[in-house]
Amino acid sequence: MIYDVIIIGGGVIGCCIARTLSKYNISVALLEKEADIASGTTKANSGVVHAGYDADRKYIKRNLCIRGNYLFTKAHKELNFPFKRIGSFVVALEDDQIEQLNEHKQLGIQDGIPGLELILDKEKILEMEPNLTPDVKGVLHATSAGLVSPYELSFALAENAAKNRVKFFRNQEVIKIRHQDYIFTVRTRTDEFKGSNLINAAGLYSSNISKMLGLDYFDIIPRKGEYILFDRNQIHINKILFPSPTKISKGILVCPTLHGNVFVGPNAQNLIDVQDLSTTTAGLKEVLEGGKKLVPNLPVRSSIRNFAGLRAVPDTMDFIIDNTDVYGFINVAGIMSPGLTSCFSIAERVEEFLELLGVNMTIKEDYDPNRPAPEHFTQFSKKQIDKKVKEDPAWGRIICRCETVAEREIINAIHAPVGARTVDGVKFRCRPGMGRCQGGFCRPKVMEILSRELQIPYEDITKRGEDTNIVLGKTKDRILNQIEEQR
Ligand SMILES: Cc1cc2nc3c(=O)[nH]c(=O)nc-3n(C[C@H](O)[C@H](O)[C@H](O)COP(=O)(O)OP(=O)(O)OC[C@H]3O[C@@H](n4cnc5c(N)ncnc54)[C@H](O)[C@@H]3O)c2cc1C
Repeated sequence: MIYDVIIIGGGVIGCCIARTLSKYNISVALLEKEADIASGTTKANSGVVHAGYDADRKYIKRNLCIRGNYLFTKAHKELNFPFKRIGSFVVALEDDQIEQLNEHKQLGIQDGIPGLELILDKEKILEMEPNLTPDVKGVLHATSAGLVSPYELSFALAENAAKNRVKFFRNQEVIKIRHQDYIFTVRTRTDEFKGSNLINAAGLYSSNISKMLGLDYFDIIPRKGEYILFDRNQIHINKILFPSPTKISKGILVCPTLHGNVFVGPNAQNLIDVQDLSTTTAGLKEVLEGGKKLVPNLPVRSSIRNFAGLRAVPDTMDFIIDNTDVYGFINVAGIMSPGLTSCFSIAERVEEFLELLGVNMTIKEDYDPNRPAPEHFTQFSKKQIDKKVKEDPAWGRIICRCETVAEREIINAIHAPVGARTVDGVKFRCRPGMGRCQGGFCRPKVMEILSRELQIPYEDITKRGEDTNIVLGKTKDRILNQIEEQR
């Protein structure tokens, strides 16, 4: 089969493009190298839907961010992913930072950003954010800023795209591309796919993909950001708190999550290794010190996890969204922050390019933009729980006690379109393993459920795909085999 469009990369950008194209009468395939979508940069970032005032006007990422932020409202109604406009504060700790915040406000208003206000009344600020440092001199309040769960957004996009007949292929690492007679032949480690148009949304690897077609005009530098996550209910933060930005970064923020935790981070360190997701003592110290400048009483002792994400920073410092010289090949590369915020506006731009390329953009008669929210045990009232458990006992079996996740949620996550195939896939879809014990108790049970539902041996269940097996075999079998060998 020759697809009308093939997308390389199943991060939030690839998934959003897939979902946007799923409304048209065209065939679309998405190829992802990992065992699951949302396994790259999309998995570990701050999850902030930025208001859009901070990027320089010379960059396309500024307008794409402002428009992207606006588009979240409709998408949230349709796709039911976790999203809340809680607003952000950029915090000035020195008098001379106020002028910079005022400039952001003025330019932001001119560019149509709603709800920007400069607050200089310290009492009012501390009333709005009681745990903020008393050294605050003023804040730029952006009411349109919000929080989103980046991977849950990606799952929602993929589920909806799959429902509208986009084909998702995981474990398909693209290794070679040929373009002949207006057809792309895309070779992966195991298969071959053909398409008339090809979209490169491969994140940190996007310059490699571009080079496969001889287009060597940008480089991607991995820039690591480390985070510390605190347990729930240890401290209350109302807003997304940014320090006054520097030229290279928005700085280390203190931020609530949509699930009741607080995190601090990220720092910024340029790397060579695109796989280095390690956290370091020095990095975490920097993150903590940065966070404490905004919130001095961070609950240091209740940190439950450290993690790192890698930004795909292009040498141009701007998003690269190009209809290239290779007919039908579109680069969507260098999607650093605010890429998550901009996913819907980036997808709009890709739509425009495909239209220019003459792709049939008529709307499917049966296109359905809606995706129901997955059901979670914690959202039910006691009465609803009684009813649910009577109808289906799997609602009554709590697998993860830290996050109160019922077996039915895990089964649903596995059988959803583009459903979970790994322990991490389940964790990121419905949270077993996200809590204080980090999966110490529930992981074996999650593995049992995966094994049973997917009908694959327990030993073949992995954490996140190839080479991440959790168990090797039955202890007794191994000992018996050893005894047998010694005889
Ligand atoms: C520390 C940090 C904080 C951030 N905070 C924010 C924020 O608060 N707000 C915001 O708007 N943005 C933020 N961002 C940016 C945002 O996370 C990214 O813009 C977004 O996730 C990029 O998505 P993507 O789909 O381009 O990349 P990815 O998520 O990396 O997806 C690319 C996919 O391509 C796949 N792939 C690669 N090579 C191949 C191949 N050869 N074959 C098949 N598949 C392949 C990868 O496995 C991956 O899944 C942050 C980023 C970082 C790192």
